Amino acid sequence: MEIQGNIHSIETFGTVDGPGIRFVVFFQGCPLKCKYCHNRDTWSTEKNNLITISELLREIKRSKPYIDSSNGGVTVSGGEPLLQAKFVTELFKELHKQKIHTCLDTARKFTNYSRYFRVIKLYRFSNARHKTYW
Ligand code: SF4
Repeated sequence: MEIQGNIHSIETFGTVDGPGIRFVVFFQGCPLKCKYCHNRDTWSTEKNNLITISELLREIKRSKPYIDSSNGGVTVSGGEPLLQAKFVTELFKELHKQKIHTCLDTARKFTNYSRYFRVIKLYRFSNARHKTYW
């Protein structure tokens, strides 16, 4: 069975979460509960909105004209996306195969991502453009 992500919501025309126009995936679940959080409805880890990578890629494909024409890409945010590090890693692999720029918005406070993070980090460092936006 294909891996599923627990998603809070999707924004197809994000302009503040990375370079260009972004397809933003907000992941569900975050235990940090920061006082300044403006996405409190993402805190719960309840599974209400499950999606496979194929389904997500189909949605992203529909926004490709905007992404391509603006040198944009896909941003994963939350919530804390690295609570679902395996899903994020597989998603990034597929996006990089299609040469789609990726951004990861994370608090990096969790331990369960370490075996996946190497993959994410490799991709992150593999493109000089990514460094520009650090
Ligand atoms: S890490 Fe981000 S999503 Fe989680 S509580 Fe803090 S600001 Fe909100």
